[in-house]
Amino acid sequence: MSKRKFKAETKQLLDLMIHSIYTHKEIFLRELISNASDALDKQRFKTLTADGGTTDGEELAINISLDKETKTLTISDNGIGMTQDEVVENIGTIAKSGSREFFEKLKDAKEHSAADELIGRFGVGFYSAFMVADSVTLLTKSVDCEKGVKWESAGDGSYTIDEYELEERGTIIILHLHEDAIKDLNLLDNQEIQRLVKRYSDFITSPIKMDFTIEKPEEKDDDGKVVQEAATEIENRTLNSMKPIWKRNKSDVTDEEYTEFFKQGFSEWEDPADVVHINGEGAVEFTALIFLPGKAPMDYYSSQFERGLKLYSRSVFIMEKCKELLPEYLGFIKGLVDSPDFTLNISREVLQHDRQLAVIAKNIEKKVLRALSKMLKNDREKYIVFWKEFGRALKAGVYAEYGANKEKLQDLLLFESNKSESVTTLAEYVERMPEGQQEIYYAPGKDKASIDAMPQMEKLKEKEYEVLYFTDKIDEFTSVTLAEYKEKKLRSIAGSDLNLDTEEEKKEHEEKLKETKEENKGLLEKMKELLKDKVSDVEISDRLTTSPVCLVSKGEGFSLNMEQVLAEANMGGMPVPKAQKVLELNPNHQIFSILNGLYDKGEEGESLLAVYAELLYGQSLLIEGLPLDNPAEIAHKMVDIMVSADKK
Ligand code: ADP
Repeated sequence: MSKRKFKAETKQLLDLMIHSIYTHKEIFLRELISNASDALDKQRFKTLTADGGTTDGEELAINISLDKETKTLTISDNGIGMTQDEVVENIGTIAKSGSREFFEKLKDAKEHSAADELIGRFGVGFYSAFMVADSVTLLTKSVDCEKGVKWESAGDGSYTIDEYELEERGTIIILHLHEDAIKDLNLLDNQEIQRLVKRYSDFITSPIKMDFTIEKPEEKDDDGKVVQEAATEIENRTLNSMKPIWKRNKSDVTDEEYTEFFKQGFSEWEDPADVVHINGEGAVEFTALIFLPGKAPMDYYSSQFERGLKLYSRSVFIMEKCKELLPEYLGFIKGLVDSPDFTLNISREVLQHDRQLAVIAKNIEKKVLRALSKMLKNDREKYIVFWKEFGRALKAGVYAEYGANKEKLQDLLLFESNKSESVTTLAEYVERMPEGQQEIYYAPGKDKASIDAMPQMEKLKEKEYEVLYFTDKIDEFTSVTLAEYKEKKLRSIAGSDLNLDTEEEKKEHEEKLKETKEENKGLLEKMKELLKDKVSDVEISDRLTTSPVCLVSKGEGFSLNMEQVLAEANMGGMPVPKAQKVLELNPNHQIFSILNGLYDKGEEGESLLAVYAELLYGQSLLIEGLPLDNPAEIAHKMVDIMVSADKK
């Protein structure tokens, strides 16, 4: 017999399970049944895809038994089983990304209530058994093995593992229940177990069975003669209803049933935001049951997240995550597709090019987008909650695939703005546009306050134009891909070509600007020369009223903000493209005449002009929230100036 220690994190999880005051300890049953059901699905799939492809009439089922004497609850299945290596790998370690994520969060969750919510949201599988058991024995035999395995642990940091004689293939899990669990949860009572199975595992597609002891009283006929002795009978009952919910008629399924199915089938804790049940008619026959989750999974925005829908053929499970059934941007969706048109041993490679799958995927996408636009129209509050969780995914969808989806998604986007109390759609923005406004304005920035402080905002406020706050890093990528909405150009107020004036004003401005430019040509050229490594141009600004300078990016393409986003995202050491920067000077600011004064002094003023140019450029970077190229140098120069100001 070999005794082994759990890995540190497994030990940590066990400790949590044992000491947890988690309020739904009974979910251990759901977790173990769901594991058993997976094992049965795998076994069914294996036999059906093997040569001949029959199940030999063997019934694949889960059995639960209770023993009041030994105080044990046993869950067994004749599923695929595990080899010794698999037991060590699957039960002794926590390898899955989801669990790892769980631990990251757990470290921060000092309080019980937080740990509680985490257990609920993740469902921690096999280990939840230790919430109700002093020790757990697992016996298992794999299809691929002669010998069985016995694994045992009291959840105290170690386990034993050994060979074990087992006749049948499958897994038996024996929970040695602890007293509190028996008392508080009534776990040795058949009726209670039946209730828990109905509650948590009713839609498991394999039968979950349990023996019930029926006490039959003595039966007498009219003359008082005993015709039937009192007897104890054992009745084997199936506890779950099994009928795949997606095979039922939409009108026959209640909201509660959908919700329960979602929670059971996808280990979800929150109610779904919406359900789409599709009975595909037409070229391809299929049924799909699609859920828009209420909350994003913890790892949704990480690279570890695996998207996809479950795939079934005639109610037989084929695959857990078929990603070809969803466009990437709808990766947060959960659900399943059942179609008789797929054979069980369809390979991943075939799926990638399968035309029918593509037809189904298109259909699902269409229906989901329709459901979303309906939600936005009919229940805006609900949509906003949904948007907070998944809005980023839709925004990413706009620029994914070179903007192929932008038409479909543009009316589902929400933004904050300086004129709407909560959020606005682009359509509502356009509706509100005052006469004379030609374009849709947005401002990229860290948060609302820093956008409000942007020098460029001054002019827009003066004009009473609405500005969308682009505080999510992804916003600008989305808007650059959209380019326009209902023939109105989307325009960044941080760009160099902000067109704000009427024709007349424009003319007047242009002339004045030209004049100012002409008058200060020398200064501008000198500044440009002094800052030649940093900016592509130095210009007179016509958008500033109180700020001395601002930095804008040239043209419509790559902006300052996008440069910053890419620099922050670790691009694997790839050089980040630079936006073309233009430094704009406010000709009406006092500093402007000081610059001119220095320039007029010629060589004598040049060294100070260089310092001022550098400082103003630094200031413009800071206002944009961009890092300084040379912070130490800038700091020195500022101190020099303070010292020389004092001397004067
Ligand atoms: P999860 O089910 O989320 O993967 P668990 O901790 O519940 O995590 O189980 C870990 C792994 O152990 C499973 O993925 C499966 O490979 C294996 N396993 C658990 N129970 C069984 C069972 N009854 N039959 C076969 N394998 C099982």
